[in-house]
Amino acid sequence: MFFSKLLIPTLRESPTDTDIISAKLMIKSGMIRKLASGFYEFLPLGLKVLRKIENIIRHEMNIIGGQEIILPLISPKNLWIETGRWNIYGKELFRLKDRKNAEFCLAPTAEEVIVDLVRKDVRSYKQLPIMLYQFGPKFRDEIRPRFGVMRSREFLMKDAYSFHTDELDLEKYYRIMLDAYKNICVKCGFKFCVVESTSGPIGGSLSHEFMILAENGETEVALCKCGYSATSEKTECLKVEGSMEELHAMDEIFTPNASTIENVVKFLELSTKNFLKTIIYIADGDPVVVLLREDHEINETKLQTLLEASEIMIADEQTVSTITNASIDFGDSVGFKNINVIADLSVIEILNAVSEANKKDYHVKNINYTSDYGINIIADVRKVVPGDICPRCKEKELKFLRGIEVGHIFKLTTKYSKSMNATYLDSNGKENLIFMGCYGLGVTRIVAATVEQSHDDSGIIWPDNITPFEVLIVPLDYYDDRSREVTEKIYKELSSKGLDVLVDDRNERPGVKFKDADLIGIPYRITIGKKDLANGNVEFKVRKDPKGSVKFLKPEEVVSKVLEIFKK
Ligand code: ATP
Ligand code: MG
Repeated sequence: MFFSKLLIPTLRESPTDTDIISAKLMIKSGMIRKLASGFYEFLPLGLKVLRKIENIIRHEMNIIGGQEIILPLISPKNLWIETGRWNIYGKELFRLKDRKNAEFCLAPTAEEVIVDLVRKDVRSYKQLPIMLYQFGPKFRDEIRPRFGVMRSREFLMKDAYSFHTDELDLEKYYRIMLDAYKNICVKCGFKFCVVESTSGPIGGSLSHEFMILAENGETEVALCKCGYSATSEKTECLKVEGSMEELHAMDEIFTPNASTIENVVKFLELSTKNFLKTIIYIADGDPVVVLLREDHEINETKLQTLLEASEIMIADEQTVSTITNASIDFGDSVGFKNINVIADLSVIEILNAVSEANKKDYHVKNINYTSDYGINIIADVRKVVPGDICPRCKEKELKFLRGIEVGHIFKLTTKYSKSMNATYLDSNGKENLIFMGCYGLGVTRIVAATVEQSHDDSGIIWPDNITPFEVLIVPLDYYDDRSREVTEKIYKELSSKGLDVLVDDRNERPGVKFKDADLIGIPYRITIGKKDLANGNVEFKVRKDPKGSVKFLKPEEVVSKVLEIFKK
């Protein structure tokens, strides 16, 4: 293909309305354009990458027995009422009405629709197991659409659903899918890791996330040398050992001019590890008090799961003052009455703890679990921190990395088949619930995550398997006869072997062509200049190699080199 004929509107300047490097580079290189907040157009270069990823995924889905289908983007409300998700999905669901006032939503995922299909068309155990998948746009009215196509309001997802007679069969297939996802990540050329995760609003008993590792990833991942890996959100915190000091009686302490925690810590010559903090939440309308160690942070997912609440939020000022004023002295607040008090596991290990007092210039010291708390529940409700020990091997310290979630698989068991009554008849003619798994991969997010992981100061560096073009030929003067002749010869030879080749036939200065070449990130560049041709050579450059590593080869040598790289 020829650069001059393609819509590749590269920009000289980076867009300023996004901070994230992948979004900047995708826009600057002319892969995508923003239509409105969270909605993007994919231009030819962007679409080529998307299609290559799609094909890698399609291949892996087909070899594990998947059957490709297409489901409508619009789905009727009644199915979502059956599972309760019409309400659970809240504002993230795009809703619409037809001319007769019937209600619909734009699909954010497709469990309801696929279960409806399967309950109508799969009746017998003889039809199971079955795996159906599709590539389709998904719509989510994200609270903060950002980072370009990394978190957009319309995105392309590959969603797969498998159906089984029993849990064992589902479990087996879940592992097969896990391996297929690993293959996809390897083939796409990512550095990635697989982590155990929470199921979120999709639900189910077991789930794994696939993370592309990148410094700016939204998700923190905790890893241990023993093989354990999980999102930090999901990582269990073990009990921390407390000190052995002698317990003292609780007392007030005068802390003048010590308004910040740092000042108080200094003043009392203690560490923040000796301090308590109190956070008040409202869980499904009821206030709860949470006690944490000062240097720890609350993990709201753990708290919500513990309370089995459908919604939790930090209490408003009014609630806080009603609760804390009930006991003016904050020393009493560690003995809250008539309210649910949850202490994190680490709190009860602090001996002679210190907390704020609801009295100016005072703190309370020597608070001890045995005597002074009004705790109802002791549980793990905090985020893991560096220094925490692995919850699996219980020996080594956890390491932390950042990643971008590109895939999420769920062992749903009967969550949806129960609410939607999807059953099959077994060999005895008995009706049973169908077991189900669901498996999502964010195709558009994969494109962005790859750019996030693989770029340098000059632009994108595409992995060989998902690059929009495998080779870029840059004739410095396309209108020089000899240059054009060599360009066309190399182009034909590589294209005839099935490689995607782009020729920069534009009448631009070499500097412009090289800048764009680095920006769009084609992994192999062949430069054709009159001077080199006079010596019988062309220039060969590998994008990912450090600047300047250029080889001079004969045209036929460059062709065999490239064919060798791509095993053609
Ligand atoms: P996140 O936690 O990032 O919101 P999710 O858990 O809501 O993701 P799933 O419902 O598991 O996502 O969807 C499957 C895949 O779809 C995700 O792994 C991700 O790759 C992709 N995805 C989800 N939301 C978006 C979005 N707003 N923009 C682009 N891709 C998305
Ligand atoms: Mg989400």
